[in-house]
Order: sequence, then C-alpha cells, then structure tokens
Amino acid sequence: TYALELSQLKKTYSTGTKALHGINLHVNKGDFYALLGPNGAGKSTIIGIISSLVNKTEGKVQVFGDDIDKNSIHAKRHLGLVPQEFNFASFETVLQIVVTQAGYYGVPRKEAQIRAKKYLTQLDLWNKRNETAIRLSGGMKRRLMIARALMHHPKLLILDEPTAGVDIELRRSMWFFLQELNAQGTTIILTTHYLEEAEMLCRHIGIIQGGKLIENTSMKNLLSKL
Ligand code: ADP
Ligand code: ADP
Repeated sequence: TYALELSQLKKTYSTGTKALHGINLHVNKGDFYALLGPNGAGKSTIIGIISSLVNKTEGKVQVFGDDIDKNSIHAKRHLGLVPQEFNFASFETVLQIVVTQAGYYGVPRKEAQIRAKKYLTQLDLWNKRNETAIRLSGGMKRRLMIARALMHHPKLLILDEPTAGVDIELRRSMWFFLQELNAQGTTIILTTHYLEEAEMLCRHIGIIQGGKLIENTSMKNLLSKL
C-alpha cells in the first residue's frame, strides 16, 4: 500500500468549473512529496478532497490503504492536515488548541500534555502557550497549526502552502523542522508554487496544471532535465 493513492480523481464544482480531470498518483510511505503548480491548478481541491472538506465527483482516494469518504474514521487517523487558512476561537490559548485536538483523537490527557510541550517547544511556541491564538503573528499561527496537526501522531502530514507569506528565516526553520519529522518516518506532502521550496525539501514532485498532472517524477530526475 501507499501513503496516498489517487485514482482517476475528478472534481467538477457546482459552479461548473472542472477543477480536476482525472488525477492518478501515488506517494510512497516515508516520502517527502511536493505538489507544485500555479494558482488555480487544482492543488487545494485535491487537499480539500483528501481532508473530506470537498466532495469528489469521481474516482478514488486512499490513505494507507483506507478509503477517504465523508465519514472514514480510519483514513482520518492516518492524516494530519495543515490548511492554508484557519480561524481560531477568540478565547482559545495555544496550549488549549493543541490539547483539545489531541482529545478529539482520544489521546489521554497526560500524554497530550507531553506531546504539546514537545511540539510547541520544537516550533518555538512554548513560551506563547498561554496566549490566545488570535493574537499570534501569521508565522506563529502557521506553526501552531503544524503542532496541532501532529498531536495524534499522523503517519501522513499534508501541508497546503505552509510557507506562503513567511519570511526567509522562519521559512528555513520550518523546512528544518519538516525535514527532521520526515527523517523520523512521517510521510509529508506539501503544496507550493515555489520550485525552490520543493527542491530544498522533497524527493518526489508532481506538477499540476489546469487540473491535470503533467509531471510526476523524482526531484533528481526533474532537475537533470532543466
Ligand atoms: P462542493 O461540491 O464540494 O460541495 P461547491 O461547488 O458547493 O463545493 O462550492 C463550495 C463553495 O465555494 C460555494 O459556496 C461556492 O460559492 C464557493 N466558490 C465558488 N467559486 C469558488 C472559487 N473559484 N474559489 C473558491 N471558492 C469558490
Ligand atoms: P490551486 O489550489 O492550485 O490554486 P484550486 O484547487 O483552488 O487551485 O482551484 C482549481 C480550480 O477550481 C480553479 O479554477 C478555481 O477557481 C476553482 N475552484 C476552487 N474552489 C472552488 C469552489 N469552491 N467552487 C467553484 N470553483 C472552485
């Protein structure tokens, strides 16, 4: 089985927009995979379908062999998601947000506290733990979303444009964090429209344009062609 497998995945929105024209791709366990493409290519649609926020029109999506459907609990347990946009409740603190998330997945309270300390420290947020999340800077909110996504120890972490609008120093530290996480066995998929980011981090790359996968190859192979 693969970490992620998309078969003949199609999406037509109710507006009539055909966002995906039959995507076939798989991502191996342990891989670090980039989905690269310009705005409007269909990247967020793919992520929306994997995260059950968008209904697919046709095709199949499997995460570690489990089908993704509106209520597939198994597939969801394997998955950690870092969306591009998020709204925090006005009163929630950083620590509450990650601990609550762990609770949704049945992580015992004590273990949740241990994980919260670990990830918030690694992501340089531990000293912000008692701040309300809405008061954090954009870069801190993004790191908080990464910590939150990791609280149930997902086997596959998917990030939608994780470093968009983030300054270069912070971008580098996020890259380092993700590389370490991948080295410890977590499969990672991210979307980006920077080739440079994909090149820095990823072993495999899929290039999507106009709802079609126009390239799917190792980074090495792609770079040798440029
Ligand atoms: P689904 O079929 O997955 O339920 P819909 O086609 O109903 O999705 O669209 C979801 C929402 O996104 C709608 O409220 C729609 O107005 C909004 N929307 C429409 N066009 C766009 C667009 N180009 N980008 C983002 N959102 C859009
Ligand atoms: P990307 O993430 O690569 O920028 P998207 O998946 O957001 O691309 O968009 C793919 C296409 O689907 C675009 O033409 C976009 O306008 C359209 N689209 C995205 N979301 C919706 C929606 N909710 N309703 C209607 N059209 C949408």
